[in-house]
Amino acid sequence: MKNDVITIDITDVTPEGYGVGRSDGRVYFIADTAVGDRVDALVLKELKSHSFAKVVNVAQPSADRIDSDCAVSKKCGGCVFRHISYDSELRLKQSFVKNAFARIAKADVTVNETVHDVPEFYRNKVQYPFARGDAGATFGYYARRSHRIIECDSCMLQDAIFGEIASFCAKTADMLHIPAYDEASGKGVIRHAVMRKNRKGQILLCLVVAEKHKKLPLLAEELDRRFEQLIGIHINVNKKRDNVIFGDETYRLLGEEVLTDILCGRTFEISPRAFYQVNAVMAEKLYNRARELASLTEEGGVILDLYCGAGTIGISIAGENDKLCGVEIIDAAIENAKRNALLNGRSEKDTLFVCGDASVGVEECKNRFGKPDVIIVDPPRKGLDRAVIDTIVGASPERVVYISCDVATLARDCAIFAESGYSTTEATPFDLFPRTGHVESVVCLSREKADDYTRVSIHTKNLQTKAN
Ligand code: SAH
Repeated sequence: MKNDVITIDITDVTPEGYGVGRSDGRVYFIADTAVGDRVDALVLKELKSHSFAKVVNVAQPSADRIDSDCAVSKKCGGCVFRHISYDSELRLKQSFVKNAFARIAKADVTVNETVHDVPEFYRNKVQYPFARGDAGATFGYYARRSHRIIECDSCMLQDAIFGEIASFCAKTADMLHIPAYDEASGKGVIRHAVMRKNRKGQILLCLVVAEKHKKLPLLAEELDRRFEQLIGIHINVNKKRDNVIFGDETYRLLGEEVLTDILCGRTFEISPRAFYQVNAVMAEKLYNRARELASLTEEGGVILDLYCGAGTIGISIAGENDKLCGVEIIDAAIENAKRNALLNGRSEKDTLFVCGDASVGVEECKNRFGKPDVIIVDPPRKGLDRAVIDTIVGASPERVVYISCDVATLARDCAIFAESGYSTTEATPFDLFPRTGHVESVVCLSREKADDYTRVSIHTKNLQTKAN
């Protein structure tokens, strides 16, 4: 019952970071716990199928536990695994992928160990929400499942320079009387400070604002004077009162249009609105695995890169004899992709980037280069629409390399592919977002396996015929 204190053993942890335990036939979700903990927990909320509780005392700590090294980790919605060792987090992430395939895809898939690198200071991007505090503008991170801002200008996941720039921006905006946006009333100007840093340490800042306040160019000048790392300052205007960060219009106030970075030895220009992997070291490992799984040959083939962003995967893995077609819904990202192809020596004759829904990809690719040999998909969390799966299967590529940031939709889609003869025997988790609950994974769905099945069934049929 609500407000009871129960003693409970934690037997599992969810990707949202909740420990799971059972007591009197009920399932309890309890934040900040680890598998192997015995905790006393206060029941906060009872729902039909499960309850939420809060730790009041760790009666017996799990061997996975460590002391959190972040002052705000219990409040902030960013890291959900700061209280357990990184090794145990990697094992957990492997188990998330295993469980999803077993429960959702009902498939017997070998899940490899989680590929990882360093768990600290890996992010090259921040998006700080701004708000009005008692003493002027504040910024930080959203609390778990809320839009309450937890103030924090230093974070173990990214370079301290981001906090310094945001802090200076908040103070200077106060001096210039540019108010921070207030979500409740919809009034004010500065909504988010979005920053991206390349490997050289150069930073592009995009301030998301509710209106083009006349003093924003002055603010940009002050920021530019103070931080030599800032190579460009843009504003994006978002007047809508919803949860989407960016609006449709982006303007450059000063400096560069794009940030240039190196990934897999290739050069990429990225606009503020284009997607770019936040963990460059791990992105390289992921792309290298995608290249292996694609099994491209020297003679070349046709590669279709769906959900291609600024073209990073396709351009990283395609050889000079390959034809490359990429499809992406964000216009600015496709403009980047076209330019990135040229920057990396790809000819227009062998490269096509199209702005549109992923479902048009196969058709566009066929019209220009013929049937794709390999299709790479890297969709957002919701996974692939049925229409996209149907067009992929209809094109009968040799292989589909599926990169996913949500293992539940990956497992769901793999089950659909399996019905059409595309199957996989292994999946590999990649820890692109250490200390958070997010896990990226990659699988290669192969048609050869389907042929094997066909061969097996033909063979069996022949045997039966013979036996008959
Ligand atoms: N492969 C890229 C980007 C992956 S993120 C990389 O590794 O950098 C997913 C991308 O899918 C985003 O760029 C997003 O803008 C794009 N996207 C979202 N919905 C889409 C749709 N319906 N059709 C095509 N692209 C879409």
